[in-house]
Amino acid sequence: MGIVNRFGAALGAVAALTALAGCETAPVTERSQFIIVPESQAIQLGADAYQQIRSETPVSNDAKMNQAVQEIGRRIAAVADDPGYDWEFTVFEDSSPNAFALPGGKVGVNTGLFKVAQNDNQLAAVMAHEIAHAIARHSSERMSRQIALQGGLAVAGAASPAAAQYSQVLAQAATLGIVLPFSREQEAEADEIGLIYMARAGYDPRAAVELWQNFAAYGGDRPPEFLSTHPSPDNRIQRLQASMPKAMEIYNKRNG
Ligand SMILES: [Zn+2]
Repeated sequence: MGIVNRFGAALGAVAALTALAGCETAPVTERSQFIIVPESQAIQLGADAYQQIRSETPVSNDAKMNQAVQEIGRRIAAVADDPGYDWEFTVFEDSSPNAFALPGGKVGVNTGLFKVAQNDNQLAAVMAHEIAHAIARHSSERMSRQIALQGGLAVAGAASPAAAQYSQVLAQAATLGIVLPFSREQEAEADEIGLIYMARAGYDPRAAVELWQNFAAYGGDRPPEFLSTHPSPDNRIQRLQASMPKAMEIYNKRNG
């Protein structure tokens, strides 16, 4: 195939992928998103990654932690803009204060998080943040950007048709996309959405500020993973305060 033909094929494939991109909108913030990863594929990737993590990391038997995580997770998922995910919440035996969410609603909480999240409201702040990442399809959004970038490179270099690039990048994203940190914009959005979700579920949204204060105090010279992949606590506390009146209105109405 000549350069011109290959260029044409690549361009066509990119156009086809772009046409597949739905008009996605994030919940709560209503930010429009560029997502070309089919939801079914993202859910499969999330389930596979979850399976892998579960096979590598011991699951905690701590009854108190498990009960708190199950109850908070279910309560938040019940009031969130749930696309019908098969939610799973697991407590992992891991001393780093961290939590994660995978596409399709697989949520992990480390035992180490309980050193920072000191009550149910604070734990709800973390879990609502993670649930927000999943529902806002932040992983798919990241993968989509990567696919578009690689597709663009393929067109520029006429290296290989974008369709082939697509499956390759998707395979890469299965490992990379899920482990790589979210963008700052996505983190801020998960905070904003999470604050609303926790309020809807009847958890005091002010606990989100306490949580980040705890994280900041915990930091020391080597910040935990959760901090290094997230915006600075001061910055996010400021943003949370800006969304607080709306969240408090929801919380007070629910509890009133
Ligand atoms: Zn996050």
